[in-house]
Amino acid sequence: MKKILLICGLICSAICFSQKKEMIAAFKAKSYKEAVSFGQKILESNPGDFESNLIISASYNSLGYFHDALPYSKKLENIAESDEQKSWTFMQLMAANYGLGNKEVSRKYYDKAKNIKAPESATAELSSLAKEFGFDSFYDQWITVETENIIFHFEPSVSREIRNKIAKTRQNAFVKGNEFFGAKLPKKIDFFVWGSNEVYNQLLKRNLGFTLAAYCVSHNRLNQTAGHEIAHNLSFWQGRSGKIKTEFINEGIGVCFDQNGDNKLEIARKAYKKSPFDIKKVWTENQKVSSEVLYPVSGAFVQFLVKHDKVRFLELNNNQTYENAKKIYGDEIDSLIDNFTDKLK
Ligand SMILES: [Zn+2]
Repeated sequence: MKKILLICGLICSAICFSQKKEMIAAFKAKSYKEAVSFGQKILESNPGDFESNLIISASYNSLGYFHDALPYSKKLENIAESDEQKSWTFMQLMAANYGLGNKEVSRKYYDKAKNIKAPESATAELSSLAKEFGFDSFYDQWITVETENIIFHFEPSVSREIRNKIAKTRQNAFVKGNEFFGAKLPKKIDFFVWGSNEVYNQLLKRNLGFTLAAYCVSHNRLNQTAGHEIAHNLSFWQGRSGKIKTEFINEGIGVCFDQNGDNKLEIARKAYKKSPFDIKKVWTENQKVSSEVLYPVSGAFVQFLVKHDKVRFLELNNNQTYENAKKIYGDEIDSLIDNFTDKLK
């Protein structure tokens, strides 16, 4: 009997071990739904497993399923023992509450996490979250302006005149963009406006602008269009959650809804004539082309698809791959690509 139990135990731990490996691999590959289902299988036999609860919570947060993340992160609070575990736990609670718009609670967990002596990997993650969310002390002097759908955070060097102009145009871009998307966001967009046109941002260690759509956070340069980053937030919260994005369609959405009022096709034509590329290849293989040509062409292509059939385009927004376009449009998608390419020539 003992021997059987021992063998069962060994088999179980071998299965758990391989499930854990698969769970972590899925999480690293950003296949968050898959990571959750691996994690839940492990919890069936080992409900108190810290790593599985952590991966499930982090996956739900990345998907924007903050209500689902909360019970797992609260459970982590009960089972965390080491300082490192506590640090990861507080970060989960900080992220889920921020996503739900409970900023004070989120900040409380940030303070708790900050006071822990955690290993380098955890402190680095905490520091980048704090910079993205605006909790870092760097933002202490920033000026906040709140409108109906957006909380603006301006670097103090931005003049009052520019602050007013940006607040007005971006709020209008939200309303305009959402006439199309009809998205319900879980919180107002936290819209950070850096006082320069510089692309690389030293504090955030990445290029501006960008959007963390799950958290409704955008970081912007001064010279960006009114609607681009806002469109990334709106399109994420439209339709089904757990979006599968491709750069070609997603940046196309940003450009199509930038509210610039310019002639997208004409601009795309100019860019394409300078450096033509195979749209299908770029879309299907995620082939790299310079953003100077990718953005205008993808923007005009998205506009073309929207004009062709809004309902089908919104379906494509959920899963932006070419394979999914084939399912939605059938073979017509290939003739649409050809028709559009002809317009660029
Ligand atoms: Zn973009």
